Amino acid sequence: MSSSPVENVVIIGTGCAGLTAAVYAGRANLNPLVLEGPLPGGQLTTTSEVENFPGFPEGVDGFQLMDNLRKQATKFGTRFEQALVTSVDFKSMPRKLIAGDRTILAKSVIIATGASPRLTSIPGERELYGGKGVTTCATCDGAFYRNMDVAVIGGGDSAAEEALFLTRFASKIYLVHRRDTLRASKIMADRATSHPKIEMVWDSIPLEITGVAKNAVDGLRVRNLKTIVERTLPVKGVFVAIGHIPNTAAFASALDVDSEGYFKPANGSQIRTRVPGVYVAGDCADHVYRQAVTAAGMGCAAAIEAERWLAEHGG
Ligand code: NAP
Repeated sequence: MSSSPVENVVIIGTGCAGLTAAVYAGRANLNPLVLEGPLPGGQLTTTSEVENFPGFPEGVDGFQLMDNLRKQATKFGTRFEQALVTSVDFKSMPRKLIAGDRTILAKSVIIATGASPRLTSIPGERELYGGKGVTTCATCDGAFYRNMDVAVIGGGDSAAEEALFLTRFASKIYLVHRRDTLRASKIMADRATSHPKIEMVWDSIPLEITGVAKNAVDGLRVRNLKTIVERTLPVKGVFVAIGHIPNTAAFASALDVDSEGYFKPANGSQIRTRVPGVYVAGDCADHVYRQAVTAAGMGCAAAIEAERWLAEHGG
C-alpha cells in the first residue's frame, strides 16, 4: 500500500458539485486534490444542451460546461487524479480514503459522488441515450420535444413530475407503468392521471426502444402484463424515471445515509456530516432538486465550510 502526503482537502467527484467545490477551495489557496471516478464530468456530460444553467442565455453544451468548470478549477491550483474510492476510515485524523492499493490522507473531505439514474437495460436504451431520444431528465431535455409525442417510464413521484413537466412542450405523453396504481404521492398521481395530455399505459413493461438503425428514437415497444398484448408507442423521446442510485456505498458505513442510500446531512445543514471536516454535496445528498445549479451551490457551500474548518483546526 502506498500513502500520499496529507492533503488539505480532497474532493471526490468531478460533477458540478465537485468542480465548483474545487474552484472555491482553489481560490482559497487550499491546493485541492480532486479524485475523478468512472464518469468524468458527471451526469451533465450525458446531456446535449443545458438551457437552464444561469448565465448562458443561448444554452451551453453539457460537456462544454463541465470542461469549462474543470479549466476554471485547474486555473486556481486544483490537481486531478483518477481514483475510485472504495472505502474510508473517518475515525482517524487525517481522514483515510482507500482507492485500490492507495491510501489518500486528507484533513478535510468533500464527497460529491453524484447519483446514477437507474436504467431499464432494455434494447435500444443504451444505444439511444443522450441526445438521440433517450434521457433521464425532463428538466434538462424536455424543451427539445416541443409538439412531439414522448413516453415516460416509471410510476413514482419522479415519473409523475417528469410527465407533468413535459406537458409544457410535448403534444402527448404516454406514462408507462408496470402496475395499475402509481407509487407517486396522491397529489402528484392525481395531477398526472387527470392531465389531458397524459395517457396512462397501465400494467405495462417496456420491452425495446426502437430507432437504433436511424440513430434516433422512433418508438417504445411495451407489453401489457395482464393481456400480454404488445404494441409500439409512436414516440420521439423516452424519459426513463425509475429512480436514482446515489453513489454512496463506499461511505455508507462511515456516514449516515437514508433508506434509499442518500447521505443524510447533520445538524439541519445540507452539507455537513456528523464527521467534523467531512462534507457532502450534490446529487449524492439531494434526491429532491437534482439540478446542476443546486449541486454547484452545495459544492460552493461545502468548500466554504471546509475552508473555515481548516482555518479553525490547523489547515
Ligand atoms: P421511486 O419512488 O423509487 O419510483 C420508481 C418507480 O419506477 C416505481 O413506480 C417503480 O415501479 C418503477 N420501476 C422501478 N424499476 C423499474 C423497472 N426496471 N422497470 C419499470 N419500472 C420500474 O423513485 P422516484 O420516483 O425517483 O422517487 C424517489 C424518491 O424521491 C421518492 O421518495 C419520491 O417521493 C421522491 N421524489 C419526490 C418528488 C416531489 O416531491 N416532487 C419528486 C421526485 C422524487 P413500482 O411502483 O412497481 O415499484
